[in-house]
Amino acid sequence: MATRLDGRAVSKKILADLKQTIAELAQQDVTPTLAVVLVGSNPASEVYVRNKQRRAEDIGVRSLMFRMPEATTQADLLAKVAELNHDPDIDAILVQLPLPAGLDEQAVIDAIGPDKDVDGFSPVSVGRLWANEPTVVASTPYGIMALLDAYDIDVAGKRVVIIGRSNIVGRPLAGLMVNHDATVTIAHSKTRDLKQLAKEADILVVAVGVPHFIGADAVKPGAVVIDVGISRGADGKLLGDVDEAAVAPIASAITPVPGGVGPMTIASLMAQTVTLAKRRANG
Ligand code: NAD
Repeated sequence: MATRLDGRAVSKKILADLKQTIAELAQQDVTPTLAVVLVGSNPASEVYVRNKQRRAEDIGVRSLMFRMPEATTQADLLAKVAELNHDPDIDAILVQLPLPAGLDEQAVIDAIGPDKDVDGFSPVSVGRLWANEPTVVASTPYGIMALLDAYDIDVAGKRVVIIGRSNIVGRPLAGLMVNHDATVTIAHSKTRDLKQLAKEADILVVAVGVPHFIGADAVKPGAVVIDVGISRGADGKLLGDVDEAAVAPIASAITPVPGGVGPMTIASLMAQTVTLAKRRANG
């Protein structure tokens, strides 16, 4: 039976360690500060932002919320980002996506100063990742690597198949995996013979957004299975992309949904905010 990779427990430990680091930074008069920009009132975004703020407060990260109306213009949003870029007390900037229709997300992402780009979505951050230079990276892939590391699962030399090629999960995770010496394949909606390909993976990562997309017939016995997907069933329950009950008996390790990758994502956002604040503390 597979080991359950417990993202709740691991993230708790990461957050406790961060709290300690934050106390040390306070002695240098530095408080890690995260600016969150929320445009409009997307209900899912409201929940995400609230969770991030709560976590920040728990550990002593100052979280500043900038709410902007649904009718915000591109120019106003870019002006807000520019203002935050220039504010010396702000370490990290996060513009919650998606933006209301009519706003150009990529232009906004491009405007965030690379040294405050805590989501790691800007072209400079992405370039640094693929050049294997130190950088902030997207929180979910960062959290997946941290979770594997916490369980001493070494990716070096392993065959990794990532299903999903989004800018927030699949692509940056592929970069991190390559940087850690894995052999990586990215699969997506146009991939042929997906099941056979998935079955070759020593580490299979599924980030598709279709409940129970992967069953036991697509998993190699002994594989490590990372389920990124979050969907809501008709009964309101959270469902992953992997049929955990079917896959757990043959996998060596598996992340549950909820309680696997999800909690690691927020902890990673906090970890990288603290990394940026440390950079400020060290001049
Ligand atoms: P996305 O919609 O941007 O990308 C989905 C990817 O799946 C695409 O690259 C697409 O090519 C691929 N895909 C779709 N249908 C496919 C098919 N039939 N076969 C193979 N590939 C297929 O999604 P995303 O933003 O990367 O998110 C994916 C899932 O992960 C969602 O459920 C999302 O809610 C979840 N998510 C969770 C966290 C977390 O913290 N746990 C973070 C981000 C995303």
